Amino acid sequence: MQYISTRGGSEPMSYCEALLEGLARDGGLTVPAVMPQVDGETLESWRSLTYPQLATEVLGLFATDIPREDLARMTSAAYAAFPGDVVPLRSIGDGITLVGLSEGPTLAFKDMAMQFLGQVLEYALERTGSVLNVLGATSGDTGSAAEHALRGKDRISVFMLSPLGRMSSFQRAQMFSLDDKNVHNIAIDGVFDDCQNLVKELAGDLDFKGAQRLGAVNSINLARITAQVVYYFWAWLRATDDGGWTELSFTVPSGNFGNILSGFFAKQMGLPVHRLVLATNENNVLDEFFRTGIYRPRSSAETLATSSPSMDISKASNLERFIFELAGRDGARVVAAWNELATNGSFDFTADLPRFIEEFGIVSGTSTHADRLATIRSVYEETGEVIDPHTADGVKVAREYVESGVPMLVLETAKPQKFAETISEAIGIELEYSDELRTMMDAPQHVVEMANDAESLRVFIEAAALREN
Ligand SMILES: *Cc1c(COP(=O)(O)O)cnc(C)c1O
Repeated sequence: MQYISTRGGSEPMSYCEALLEGLARDGGLTVPAVMPQVDGETLESWRSLTYPQLATEVLGLFATDIPREDLARMTSAAYAAFPGDVVPLRSIGDGITLVGLSEGPTLAFKDMAMQFLGQVLEYALERTGSVLNVLGATSGDTGSAAEHALRGKDRISVFMLSPLGRMSSFQRAQMFSLDDKNVHNIAIDGVFDDCQNLVKELAGDLDFKGAQRLGAVNSINLARITAQVVYYFWAWLRATDDGGWTELSFTVPSGNFGNILSGFFAKQMGLPVHRLVLATNENNVLDEFFRTGIYRPRSSAETLATSSPSMDISKASNLERFIFELAGRDGARVVAAWNELATNGSFDFTADLPRFIEEFGIVSGTSTHADRLATIRSVYEETGEVIDPHTADGVKVAREYVESGVPMLVLETAKPQKFAETISEAIGIELEYSDELRTMMDAPQHVVEMANDAESLRVFIEAAALREN
C-alpha cells in the first residue's frame, strides 16, 4: 500500500515513511492511494478475534511494509496496557450503545491510537537507525496520552509544553507524575496558544528541527488515524454478534475530525455503516460545514472555553482528508479550496451538499453546556451510568438521529473522572477515584517551569535531546 498527498504534489510513500514524515512534502496530508476493501466473508471471519488480533488484520491492510509477525507483536504490546476488555460496549437504552474507548492509561480515547503509535514509531526508527525528539503543546489530553505511550522508549524523547497553572489537578498529575528520563514536562508561563506558538516557531526553523531531530505525534499522524479504524470494526462485530442487524450508525464527539475520519475510512473499506453523526460543542465549525457546505474556521480568540474542553477546536486539522474525497481525489481542487479560504476566510462546497449524506452518510449536530448537563443527568437517572461531558455531547446529538431498526453506537471518548467538576455540576455527586488514581494524584511531580521565550526552550532542547550515534 502506497500513500499519496491530498494535494497531489508528493511522491508516493510507504506506511512507515508516511508515519515518520507527518505532513507530505507539498504540505498536504497522506492518504491511501487506494482504500483497502473488506468483504462480508472476511468481516464474518473476524468475529472470533481478540482486539489485538483484529488490530493486526485491519492495520495489516494499511501497513503492508511491516511483516505480519512484527505487527502482531506491536498490537499485543499496545493493547496490553488496557485492563479487561479493550473496548467494552454497553447499552444506555433508547437504541443507544456506548463504545468504551477510554479504558487505557490516561482515561481518554487518545490512548487507543497513541499506544500503537508508540510501538510503531520505535519500530520505524529502529529500521532507519534514527531517533526522534517529539515536541508538542497540550492543554491536557493529547500530551498525557503521548507521554504514557512514549515513556521509556529508547529512540524517542518527549518535550511537552503546557500552560502553567491552567490544567486541572488531575491532568497535571497524569503528566507530571511520570519520572521517565525521556519525558520532559515544560510548564510555560502563558496560555495554550503561547505553547503552540513556541512549537510552531521551533518546528518552523528547519535547521533547528533537522539538527535536533524534532517531530510531532499530532492528530494528523497516519498511524493514529489507521489505529482508530480498528475499533469501528470491533464495535460493529460486537454490536451484531447476535445476528440480525447489518447496518448501524456511529456518533462521534469531534474536534480535529480525527476520530470520525477513521470511521469514514471504515465505511469506505466496506464496513456496513449507515450514518456517521458528527457531534460538536459550542465550537461548532464542523456542524456548520456539514449543514451548509461552507467551512469557515475561527481564530483562537473566537474559540470558546467550554465544559467539553478537548473539543474546543475551530480549525479541524484532519478535514482535508475528507475534502480530498469530496473533491473526487483531485489534489488541484483541494489546493483551490485552501486558496479560496486564504482569500475569503472560508471555502464553499454547497454544490456538493447532497453527497454529504447520500454518498458519505455524514450528518451533524451541536451540543451546548446546558445540553451536556441535561444529558449527563438524564443518562444517570435512566441507567445509573455516569458519562463524561464529551460523550454527553455525543449522546445529545445521537438522540436526534436515532432511527428505528438501526442501532446507534456513541463513542465514549473519556471517563467522567477526568472532568469531575462538570459531573458534580450536573448530578451533584463527587466521583470516587480508584486506589491507582489516588496514588497518581499524590505522587511527586516532575516539571520544569519556563518563561514564554523561544530562546530558553531552544537551549533546553539542545541540552536534553536524544542524539543518533
Ligand atoms: C481529542 C478528543 C476529542 C476530539 O477528537 P478529534 O479526533 O479531535 O475529533 C473528543 N473527546 C475527547 C475526550 C478527546 O480527548
